[in-house]
Amino acid sequence: MDKPKQLIDKLEEASRLSKEEWISLIENRSETVAEYLFEKARKWQHKYYGNHVYTRGLIEFSNYCKNDCYYCGIRRSNQNAERYRLSREQILECCQIGYGLGFRTFVLQGGEDGWFSQEKLEEIIHAIRERYPDCAITLSLGERSRESYRRLFEAGADRYLLRHETADEEHYRKLHPQELSAAHRKQCLWDLKEIGYQTGTGFMVGSPGQTAAHLAEDLMFIRKLEPHMVGIGPFVPHHDTPFAAEKGGTAELTLFLIGLLRVMLPKLLLPATTALGTIDARGREKGILAGANVVMPNLSPTDVRKKYELYDNKICTGDEAAECWACLGHRMEGIGYQLVVDRGDFCQ
Ligand code: SAH
Repeated sequence: MDKPKQLIDKLEEASRLSKEEWISLIENRSETVAEYLFEKARKWQHKYYGNHVYTRGLIEFSNYCKNDCYYCGIRRSNQNAERYRLSREQILECCQIGYGLGFRTFVLQGGEDGWFSQEKLEEIIHAIRERYPDCAITLSLGERSRESYRRLFEAGADRYLLRHETADEEHYRKLHPQELSAAHRKQCLWDLKEIGYQTGTGFMVGSPGQTAAHLAEDLMFIRKLEPHMVGIGPFVPHHDTPFAAEKGGTAELTLFLIGLLRVMLPKLLLPATTALGTIDARGREKGILAGANVVMPNLSPTDVRKKYELYDNKICTGDEAAECWACLGHRMEGIGYQLVVDRGDFCQ
């Protein structure tokens, strides 16, 4: 047996690898190695989740942001971004439409927008919690204080998504202005876990300057954090950012990493992301077949979809929520999986 396959066996057995082993596995991957990995990934996926694919209804409620991340289309310096905010009523309407379609998780995602004060956010969470006691409320609002996270949890939020972006401090500095640090972002993740959130982290694949050693650090950080969810997707350049001319990440490496994550932490919730579906027409199907078990279609009103443009050519910006649900349903059926009406909690 060749070396990469042995490393995959070792990963399955020990659920961890050394930094050198991770680097070697990533650098020596091939199509055959990937097939070997994906088969194992699907075995674990089926053991814990069967052929069920969970859906999360994504509500992109504001594209105002005080941060200036070099990769992101809604960074504050992008003068060309047309800014919008959804009202409390519009957010609740998204939930209502989503609930009718079968969504039992709502993800509120936005830029770091101070207009939504702590009180406003708590009030919106309370309102969703009261109307939909059987649904999970997920937040993806960036870095906040521990106290703020705690109060949002008490208001009724159950889950929080905060990708660490890259575990390596130096690489982090290449992707962000100096006021942001990997250390602070990681601290937020530890706080979120401790408060009791089902916590999701993740990173972009193929972000500028990323090496196999950085990916090894990402995987080791995730192993240590033991989050409930990990969202990874290819970096896709946005034309109005400093990274406009950079190369994007590949579907091939993204899929390989999804497989590695499934085998390392078999119970993980792993989305086949929209970014993956953007660079490859069958990216989300391939993601599921590499071990992913979650999709996150958009519930935002169609008139704002195009404005929440983190990267170029984002898919599904013209479709109604119902069309997205139906389209994904067909795609999943086509590969032998099914979308389920379920909160889709982490399997204990
Ligand atoms: N403000 C929130 C939500 C960020 S948007 C927060 O800070 O967590 C969600 C994710 O989109 C980011 O974490 C980032 O990993 C991803 N993203 C941003 N720009 C991207 C790009 N150009 N290509 C691919 N993914 C991108």
